[in-house]
Amino acid sequence: MVKLVVKPIADVLSEDEIRRKTDEYVGEMLRNAQVIGDDLFLVDKATGRATPSFFSNDCFVKSLIKLRFGTITNMEGIKSLARGRAIHDLYQEWFKFANSRVHVEIESGIETVDTSGRADIIYMREFDGEEVWGLIELKSSWNLNEDRERRYLKQVISYVLMLEETGITIREAYLVTMRDVKSLPINRLRREYQNVIMELKAIENYQGWPMEPPDPLLCVRCELKPICNTYAIYRGNKSMTSISSAND
Ligand code: SF4
Repeated sequence: MVKLVVKPIADVLSEDEIRRKTDEYVGEMLRNAQVIGDDLFLVDKATGRATPSFFSNDCFVKSLIKLRFGTITNMEGIKSLARGRAIHDLYQEWFKFANSRVHVEIESGIETVDTSGRADIIYMREFDGEEVWGLIELKSSWNLNEDRERRYLKQVISYVLMLEETGITIREAYLVTMRDVKSLPINRLRREYQNVIMELKAIENYQGWPMEPPDPLLCVRCELKPICNTYAIYRGNKSMTSISSAND
């Protein structure tokens, strides 16, 4: 039997090493980003496909913008993306080292008919002579409120369903944050979130823009406000046609 070692992120990574790697990634992202407005950058081009990572968006319109135009954010957002990437890389490295007898796959792409995505860590360990497949989702948050946790769980279940389609049955899964490791009840969550892939397809098939923000309170601090069509419609302003040319 091979025992798995999973720990909270802050237990195995120091803030110093996270900061060093974050600075490196901020520089790299800025070099590759396209400036599209005042403190607004296009950091990734649109793929036209909704992936499970879209569940990390707190607003449906943010997902539509990402799908149609790519990842757009401000300097603060770039720093936060870079920190997330640094934490992922460093933790994945630690995980492989701490679980040297476990077969570990990092950021491996999953392709299905309906969607594609990348789970942070997929592993296979031996238990009572059987192969047990598991999945780990990393989040660089210190605290999860109910809404955020629900969205992350949907992301995990999307990967579970997608892997199932490729012939891999995930038997255990963990949501790992800065201070917590949560073992997830996969079967119950599968029942609860059985429509997650359909939800992703609904983003892809959505026509036009919602006339109202799903939660106007989120708009107050949203960096996408200057280019958000829904916000513009809601406030009776003009639309964001300028973004399409920035993304050509
Ligand atoms: S401005 Fe409001 S509606 Fe638009 S993406 Fe941001 S939170 Fe969503």
